[in-house]
Order: sequence, then structure tokens, then C-alpha cells
Amino acid sequence: MKLLNVNIPTLQAERNFDLTIKNGRLDAITVHDEYMKADRPFSYSFSDHERGEELVWDAEGRILLQGMVDAHMHLDKSHSLLVAKNQSGTLFEAIHSYTKASETFTDENVLGRMRKTALTALAHGTSTIRTHIDFNTRVSEETTFRGVRMALQLKQELAPYMNIQVYPMLPYYPYEDSDRKKIERMLALGIDGVGGAPHISERPLECIDEIFAYAKQFDLPIDLHTDESDDPTVDTVLYIADKTMEFGYEGRVVVDHLCSLAAMDHDKAAAVIQKMKEAELGAITLPAANLYLQGRQDRGIVRRGVTRVSELIDGGVKVATASDNVCDPFHPFGRGDLLQIAQLTGYTAHMGGRQDMITLLKMITEVPAKLIGSQLCGIKVGELADFVLVDSKSVEELFADLPQTRAVYRSGKWLAMTNTTSQFELTPTIKL
Ligand SMILES: [Zn+2]
Repeated sequence: MKLLNVNIPTLQAERNFDLTIKNGRLDAITVHDEYMKADRPFSYSFSDHERGEELVWDAEGRILLQGMVDAHMHLDKSHSLLVAKNQSGTLFEAIHSYTKASETFTDENVLGRMRKTALTALAHGTSTIRTHIDFNTRVSEETTFRGVRMALQLKQELAPYMNIQVYPMLPYYPYEDSDRKKIERMLALGIDGVGGAPHISERPLECIDEIFAYAKQFDLPIDLHTDESDDPTVDTVLYIADKTMEFGYEGRVVVDHLCSLAAMDHDKAAAVIQKMKEAELGAITLPAANLYLQGRQDRGIVRRGVTRVSELIDGGVKVATASDNVCDPFHPFGRGDLLQIAQLTGYTAHMGGRQDMITLLKMITEVPAKLIGSQLCGIKVGELADFVLVDSKSVEELFADLPQTRAVYRSGKWLAMTNTTSQFELTPTIKL
């Protein structure tokens, strides 16, 4: 199959690319300024693609992105809002309500919700997901292990189509022997890395010590909910940076949220960013959930809870943006669409210039791919053909429209096609 006249803004925004795909791999890529003529305009309909590899399509300058990487989701919690309610909208009620509801879940229920969210994300162009999974050792044993078991099952089930990394969150309370036995059993199940939320702990530094010790023992990377608080004195990220260097874990630790960084004074924030760079911590901003959860107690000027995205990038820290929670008590909205999250990041981080828009696209593709150690290397000859073709012809149009019309290619075939028209008709009595 050939795709002519593709726009790949993350490579070179102003030129046209032609891609040749053979046996599911990128066989040739050419770049040119002029428009290459082809007879067949690209179709967002499966039936037109039945002849597969023989066809030559004219993408007519549409934007192509490498398969997007949602580096921070909670598949186990997604779409649980109807049973796990949250009247106050606070993080505290969300945790309490979800823990209570989780005792009523079944394998089928959890797996079904996870599958729905993962496949919706795939249809939007996401081909890799890192999901955090609750691991609470103080509920029934079945509930403790259900999320991890179902996530590993889904990972295997969807492996032909997408990559899923499973990061169970180690509990934030001090461990007793019975907790340790369960944690050690879980860590041996074939998970991808260790998660957690140590800032919630009454003794966060001890909690971080535990997480690093277990990660080292099982030789696993670390990805932590970090300083998800409006309080500028909350700065466990500094200790995480120290532990990272002490354990030789540079490049293997990602810190997410970093809300308190936004509340700190400028000098302290600059020192934190410098230390993060030194320890090679990756950062993930989760603007949707944090706009919703943070700043709730503020009156007058309300803090927004979104970390210092541009300053982290300028300070040399790799920053991705991701979905976090989807339709659950922690965050009641969302559709697993990283373009929507990139647009929200543009709003909250004041990133709307042309170069900013390209940076935003990198924050949902190549940057998170690096942060999570993805084996995929993007749009390169010899690589897996793993991409989404979006019905927009410029980054400006893409961010304005967030078109749903997309085609997702991977595993040697088109996996998802969505065709909604962005055109509308007005009654002839109205003139634009
Ligand atoms: Zn999260």
C-alpha cells in the first residue's frame, strides 16, 4: 500500500511525505515539496480498502501521526462513575467511593470496562497505553488481585493490536507482613513496572523507600503519582530524585501530576526542575483530572492544579501529557482521545503557537514513547507501520476541529475507521 501526500508535522511540517507499506512495515519514505498526483483520494471506509497492499491512496495533505501513547490511564477505574459516585468531587471521596464499589465488581465487569476504554482509545489513534491499576491489600483477596489479573488478561488479549503496560500502585500505608506477602505475589505476576501515590501516605518518604526497594528487587521501572496537591510545601519529588540517583535508576523513573510545583514560588520550582533534570526523571502532566480535582477549596483566585509544563520543557525535562481517569469518580469526563488532551494542555499551559502545537503532538507520541521505554521508534523505514491518519490538513485545523474522522493502521491492516463529517449545511437563506 502507498499513501501519497501525507503531512507529518512531528517530522517536517511544511513538506509532503509518501509512505510505502509492505507486510505491516514502513518499506520506503520519500519527502518532497511538490504535490504527487494520485487517482484515488483516501477513503475512511473499510470496504474501499479491501484490496489492501496493492492500493495507492492520495492523502491530500492530511496529517499522519505515529500511533499515540497514552502514558497514564486507569483502565480498571474507567466508566465506573455510575456505581462509584462522587457527590463532593474531591479526591478523598473518590478514593473512598471507589474502594467501596470495587468490592462489588466482577471479573467480567472490570474486564469489560477496561476493554471498552482501551478500544475507544485505539479508535482515536492510541496504540500504546500505560495503565496504573489499584492494588489495595486491605480489601477481600479477590478484589485485591482482580484489577491486576484483568489488566494482564486484557494486555494479552489485545496484544495483536496494541501495547498495554500494567503498573500496579503499591499501597501508601505502612506494610504489615500480610501486605508484603500479597505485594510480593503480585510483583511476580509479570507486570511491567511499579506504580504508587506516596504523597497520599502519612509517611511519604518511607513509602518511597518501599517502592524503590521493591522495584530494585524485581528489576522494574517506576512510575509514581507525585505531589498531586495544591500545597506548595509538598515536594516529595526531591526525595524521589535523590532515590533515583542513589539506586542508579536514572531514566527509569517517571513522575506524574506535579501539581504542587505549580503552587510553589518561582525559585523553589526552578530548583525542583533542575533536580528532576539531574535525576533524569520523566514528567507527565494530566490536565483534565487536575483541572477538575485541584483548587476546590480555593476561594477568589482558584489554582488550576496543572504543573509548569513549559518551564519543565525549557529546563530540559521530557514532558508528556496523558488522559488519567476516564468517566470515573476521580474525573467524570473524557473519551480516551489524546488529541483532546493535547488541546486541553494547549489551553492550560498557554501553548498555542505553531511550534507549540507541534510540541503538543510530540507530547502524545514520541515523548511518552521514550518515557515508557516503548520499543516502537515512530515513522522510520523498517519500523512497524503504526499510525493514525487524521482528517486535517494543518496543525492549526487539527487543534481547532479535533476531527473524529481518523483511520488507524497497525498490525498490517487498518484497525479502526471513523468517518464523521465536519461539514454542515445551512439553510440557503443564511449566507456565511
Ligand atoms: Zn492517575
